[in-house]
Amino acid sequence: MGGKDEFYNRAKQQGYRSRASYKLQQIDEAEELFERGDTVVDLGAAPGGWLQVAAEEVGEQGTVIGVDLQRIDDLDDHDVETLRGDMTDERTQHYLGKAMGDEKADVVVSDMAPNMTGEYSLDHARSVHLARQAFEVAEEFLAPGGHFVVKVFQGEDLHDFREEVSEHFEYVRAMSPEASRDASSEVFLVGKGRITAPVEEGDRLTVEIEHEGDEGDGIAYLEGYSLFVPGAEAGDTVEVVVDDLKPKFGFAELVDDEDENDGERGGDSDDG
Ligand code: SAM
Repeated sequence: MGGKDEFYNRAKQQGYRSRASYKLQQIDEAEELFERGDTVVDLGAAPGGWLQVAAEEVGEQGTVIGVDLQRIDDLDDHDVETLRGDMTDERTQHYLGKAMGDEKADVVVSDMAPNMTGEYSLDHARSVHLARQAFEVAEEFLAPGGHFVVKVFQGEDLHDFREEVSEHFEYVRAMSPEASRDASSEVFLVGKGRITAPVEEGDRLTVEIEHEGDEGDGIAYLEGYSLFVPGAEAGDTVEVVVDDLKPKFGFAELVDDEDENDGERGGDSDDG
């Protein structure tokens, strides 16, 4: 095939700048990333295949910003803003912040890849480094509920990176789209529904119930994040354990005083 495979040919015919376009299309079909009017940040965007797909999906009301080390030629059919710079350089992050203004991103995607040396563990380590950089950008610019897609080469640090990302999204899935070459070690982690809660599941804390929700649950506010507490009433100060976090609100259970007292009574005897 001389490297010119089905997706390469399709890209040529359909006017996409790279075969990579189909990877993003396939991820979008599986995970429903984009909506009309969304703001999208694309890292490692040259030559612009993903920019074309994102721009098509968000439509004219949407905003797409692409960043790459390489210059990205203007797109003919879409109004896309591009920046040239190294995402590992703070200056580039600063310019991206300027381009975003007060906007938050609905989707952050990264197809960044290091120059391959052929040395497996080095290429993997560099890829994870770039993926972490993309995750930092997501943490800074992604709106609550927003989605994150990042390319990583498989290897020993992938598991830990995936765990880190998982803590901040409703769920994370690893995907190998059909358009990735068979021999490629790349996977795409897709984080759906960014969670911005200032607590984690399992945390135990004391909260003040300020309101009551429609379903009768008490609501406490933690730095603007709503925590629903079934069985608590407005005005109560209660101890809770966080048990389920969604992007914009979460649930916590009242710590049962009786269980506590039982526990304490049980603790009257010597520990050993
Ligand atoms: N998604 C693109 C498309 O559809 O056309 C293809 C991206 S290509 C696989 C990977 C890109 O990551 C390269 O253009 C490369 O210049 C870029 N890249 C690698 N390291 C980078 C960095 N530190 N900062 C910005 N871009 C980087």
